[in-house]
Amino acid sequence: MSNFVDTIMAHVKNMNQAEPEFHQAVQEVVESLEPVIAKHPEFKEAKILERLIEPERVIMFRVPWVDDRGNVQVNRGFRVEFNSALGPYKGGLRFHPSVNLGILKFLGFEQIFKNSLTTLPLGGGKGGSDFDPHQKSDDEVMRFCQGFMSELFRHIGPNTDIPAGDMGVGGREIGFLFGQYKKLRNAFEGILTGKGLEWGGSLIRTEATGYGCVYLAEEMLKTQQKSFDGLRVAISGSGNVAQYAAQKVNQLGGKVVTLSDSSGFIVDEEGISGERWDFLMDLKNFRRGRIKEYADKFKCEFHEGIGVWNTKADVALPCATQNEISEEDAQTLVKNGCFCVAEGANMPSTPEAIEVFLNNKVLFGPGKAANAGGVGVSGLEMSQNSMRISWTREEVDAKLHRIMKDIHIASITAAERFGSPGNYVHGANIAGFLKVANAMIDQGVV
Ligand code: NDP
Repeated sequence: MSNFVDTIMAHVKNMNQAEPEFHQAVQEVVESLEPVIAKHPEFKEAKILERLIEPERVIMFRVPWVDDRGNVQVNRGFRVEFNSALGPYKGGLRFHPSVNLGILKFLGFEQIFKNSLTTLPLGGGKGGSDFDPHQKSDDEVMRFCQGFMSELFRHIGPNTDIPAGDMGVGGREIGFLFGQYKKLRNAFEGILTGKGLEWGGSLIRTEATGYGCVYLAEEMLKTQQKSFDGLRVAISGSGNVAQYAAQKVNQLGGKVVTLSDSSGFIVDEEGISGERWDFLMDLKNFRRGRIKEYADKFKCEFHEGIGVWNTKADVALPCATQNEISEEDAQTLVKNGCFCVAEGANMPSTPEAIEVFLNNKVLFGPGKAANAGGVGVSGLEMSQNSMRISWTREEVDAKLHRIMKDIHIASITAAERFGSPGNYVHGANIAGFLKVANAMIDQGVV
């Protein structure tokens, strides 16, 4: 490591102890930015990096609620308002037992650069709770969401901070959160994205992250004169991002052979499409069941636990969670002939895994670029809310496609300009950073 990276990382680790995911996210960005800082002493003078790594505001609060048996439960709620140089804070809410401040800071930090890459006027933020929606009744989820919003409502607003969904927060949760905000404020405002289509949501928002990830992968494949047609694709997760990544791969002629959840993974040589994909959608979004039921129904392989990356595939789309691809997983994927990886999830590859991909010339699209379609269409939902209009499915899909193509161009251009051609990690970090850094300089020391 160089002096520059060392100094920043020592400071980050000292100031943010016991937050390894945050350290990991910052380290990747700082390493990418070395040549930028060397060329732009004004960023160093204005202490842009030192300011960027410190959230503008962190809100932590108690969420008490009553379960179906009448017992009082207490969870912890968070909103990290990280950076508003480019626009109001924007980023999802995650409900998962693993949520803590360090996880949300890693996600919020990533969000700054991702939002910048979309070219939309969006700052970066993230929030959530250690509440686990699994095995909770709809009433329990509603009471929790109401409790969560009873505090969050005073910190957000259509021009201040506009949360969205993430792991554990889908259409059901967004509805309950929105209802409580409206009641408390007596105002029908676009303070959340991912809303229902009848009450201010945008077409294609549900599909956007998964579709966007495949659109980015398609652009990367084109640089080697390849397409999805006929390719074998491994996808992890089976939630929102994985579901629509699978649908788009099917539409482009690829074959999705695996999906997973936290209990295990399936391998379906027939391809997860048609009635099989419909079954998965019902299983995960309505019956809220386990992936094994898919294997039981269609008589395909089910394996307990991790191991999804042992499945042979040309393309891998990790769409579950952070650090789900280890160095060994990456080596296995490469050994099995995988030549393209696009991250639907946030930071699913460890730094060692990324090194394996880059050393083996695998086309590697980092999450900041590959999963930016979700926040991109969230930005489009905000525009439609402000204008009080709704665009058609085709219009939103075309805009999403444009955003992903532009992210691809911005990333390769920045990588080339700063001396690492073909490296989308450096390219996305640099392209995302430059806009934010310039805006911070313009706005003075605030
Ligand atoms: P969902 O909650 O809809 O789905 C998450 C999926 O990942 C589930 O199948 C879940 O299984 C699985 N999973 C979670 N933890 C693990 C684990 N430790 N091991 C194996 N599987 C696991 O979330 P999303 O699809 O919305 O989000 C997935 C990823 O995409 C996250 O990293 C998120 O930050 C990122 N993302 C999401 C966006 C969005 O618009 N939703 C936008 C940009 C990024 P189980 O149900 O068993 O827990």
